[in-house]
Amino acid sequence: MRDNFIFKCTICGEENYLGSKNKKNHPDRMEIKKFCSRCNKMTIHKEKK
Ligand SMILES: [Zn+2]
Repeated sequence: MRDNFIFKCTICGEENYLGSKNKKNHPDRMEIKKFCSRCNKMTIHKEKK
């Protein structure tokens, strides 16, 4: 079963990216480096429930 989730900027809290994942394959919270338009730079984005 795939769940949709949101990647949220850890600096400003902006919810920049939507994603989906298989919980069985990726049970842990994901962290990715993405460009944040509010911070205007690459920041760490964390999965938000
Ligand atoms: Zn940001």
